[in-house]
Amino acid sequence: MDVEKKVVETIEKYGLIKEKDKVVVALSGGKDSASILYILKKLGYNVEGLMIDLHLGNWSKIHNENMIRFCEANEVPLTIVDLKKEVGQGICFIKAVLKKSQNLTGCTVCGVIKRWILNKWAKKLGADVLVTGHNLDDEAQNVLMNFLKGHVLLGVNSSPATGGIKIKGFVQRVKPLFFVPESEILEYAKSKKFDILYDKCPCAFGTYRVETREWMKGISDLEKKKIVENFQKLVPKLRSENVWEIKKCGKCGEPSRRELCNACKIFSCLK
Ligand code: AMP
Ligand code: ZN
Repeated sequence: MDVEKKVVETIEKYGLIKEKDKVVVALSGGKDSASILYILKKLGYNVEGLMIDLHLGNWSKIHNENMIRFCEANEVPLTIVDLKKEVGQGICFIKAVLKKSQNLTGCTVCGVIKRWILNKWAKKLGADVLVTGHNLDDEAQNVLMNFLKGHVLLGVNSSPATGGIKIKGFVQRVKPLFFVPESEILEYAKSKKFDILYDKCPCAFGTYRVETREWMKGISDLEKKKIVENFQKLVPKLRSENVWEIKKCGKCGEPSRRELCNACKIFSCLK
């Protein structure tokens, strides 16, 4: 029950979710997002699931079926958004084109597109908050990856409540598993016998994140917690020194720091 306790503590400490909020949980089909959906429902929140069908062959098919079953069993409504209907292509094609034309590799492209669709659809569903299943390991990896690449400022939005402040057009993204190690979530999901896939994304191979994840296997959960907590102490200072104006993307109208948002930049390469 340690996981549930940590979730409650994080929600309370950071004021992540209010009692009456409409809570939309972004479901990948994996253990983290499935666990947080289950816990928030158990805590009595008004929860819905939102999943993007990325069209990653059988992998997506199984995840979709699992989440339909999982949400039904937990009496939670589920919306599945079809990536091909949204942007005209599946994720493999998009990644292949971007690799060839922009030499963009890794999970960046997928992450930008997922965030764009999730924000758009969370708004459509009338969400007050959008929950993701990011955990302590993800956050510790982000801190170290940004540091090693010399891009520490990329972590300016890192927080259990992304961005920390409300920005017009953005549904507030929250991460109640921010301080929960992946090992504990895995144990939790298995103890609850969640009938889901426990594999990592088949697309994420040879990426910097995967390499980082590998060598971080030698780091204890306590050290990961210190990495994340100590970085959190820096975040307010980074934020106060780096304020960006948020505009509307000239193409899609979603909030963006530049004239054209990152998703629209990707979509323009697909034509
Ligand atoms: P990942 O980037 O795959 O590590 O996923 C991080 C979080 O993003 C997950 O815990 C989910 O909350 C969300 N997410 C990832 N993939 C999807 C998807 N296909 N549909 C909806 N949400 C997703
Ligand atoms: Zn745009």
